[in-house]
Amino acid sequence: MIKKVKIITLDYDVEMVPRLENESGNELYGWHQEYNQRILISEEYTEELQVRAIWHEVCHGLFRQFGMETDDEEEICRALGHMLPTLLRDNPELVKLTMGDAVP
Ligand SMILES: [Zn+2]
Repeated sequence: MIKKVKIITLDYDVEMVPRLENESGNELYGWHQEYNQRILISEEYTEELQVRAIWHEVCHGLFRQFGMETDDEEEICRALGHMLPTLLRDNPELVKLTMGDAVP
C-alpha cells in the first residue's frame, strides 16, 4: 500500500490498520480523516478492496476540497472507488496521455 496521497492541495498519510469500524460498530474498508489528513485502510480486506477503499476515501477528500455537499456523496464515492481504478487499468494509454513525461 502507498504511504501518501496528495488530494489537490492536501497531502494525506495513508495508514493500514487491523480493523476499522464506525460509531455503530459497522466494519469499514477505509476512513477519510480531513482534520489530521489521514486515510485509514483496513488490512482485513483483499488487496483489490483496499485499492477501491483508497479511491473511495480520495473521493471523500475531493468533496471536502471542493466544498461539495450532497446526500449522495457516499453512493458517488462507492461507485468512483470501483470505477476509477478499473478505468486506469483498462486505459494505460489514457494514463500515459494524462501523465505525459511524469510517467514513472
Ligand atoms: Zn465513504
